[in-house]
Amino acid sequence: MIAYTRPIVCIVLLSFFYFNSCKQPVSENNTRLKVLTTVAPIFSFTKNITGNAADVENLLPSGAGPHEYSLSPDDARKIAQADIIITNGVNLESWLYKLTDVPENSSVYNVVDSSSGIDILDNDPHIWLSPLNAIMQVKRIRDGLINADPENSKLYSDNTAAYIKRLEILDKEISDEISDWNRKDFVAFRPAFRYLAKDYGLNLAAVIQESPETEPSPRHLITVLDTIRSRNIKSIFTDPMITHKIVRSIAADLNLEVYSLDTMESGNSGKAYYEDITRANIAVLKKVLQ
Ligand SMILES: [Zn+2]
Repeated sequence: MIAYTRPIVCIVLLSFFYFNSCKQPVSENNTRLKVLTTVAPIFSFTKNITGNAADVENLLPSGAGPHEYSLSPDDARKIAQADIIITNGVNLESWLYKLTDVPENSSVYNVVDSSSGIDILDNDPHIWLSPLNAIMQVKRIRDGLINADPENSKLYSDNTAAYIKRLEILDKEISDEISDWNRKDFVAFRPAFRYLAKDYGLNLAAVIQESPETEPSPRHLITVLDTIRSRNIKSIFTDPMITHKIVRSIAADLNLEVYSLDTMESGNSGKAYYEDITRANIAVLKKVLQ
């Protein structure tokens, strides 16, 4: 009986190797860059640069926000296996550095901070919400990818150039749109859209909650209410995830409408994600400000 087992094993092994060689050469498979992004907009930027040339995964699952995130053992495994980790920066991913062996500017892990060179306002991490900042982030990400995977540098450069053209169209569209609006003042629950406001001539006249960790003081709320009344503001903008009782009570007291703007932090991202959500946000702002 033993004499028959060996040929069977050989056939199984041969067919295994044959099957593998038909799928893809092993060497090519091993050299694909493993990229880990942190949040949805950064995933969208990165996917547009790599196309199908790299394996890109986003760390935060859809529905999870980065401000209150903590790493799971599965996340630690993904971080350890990534060739390059692409972050937004500006302390949005402070939890990433709580993993003891991923120090900032690490030589063990290749961490790209896409915020470098961007003018940061009051330590606010929501830089991507202005397409002008997004274009700068995309360039930083391109440079990081080329550094990690020089063999694909032409492809990454070409894809980046094509994507930046699309972002420039988006930028022009927003500038043209907003320049026609009658109102420029708006009030928001959080300050995230101050980068968009600054770059496109809107005025974030008041913010209800300045930081995600701190509840607004009664004195601050009085200032917000005064601004809303004195500037004849009729609406408040909040996040899709937030139905905060402060927003509801201010809206009820002053008879304001409540609209939501998506900061994209907990979305289900893809190549068109950033452009689609930006256009949707501009359409919401237009309802109130045009
Ligand atoms: Zn946020």
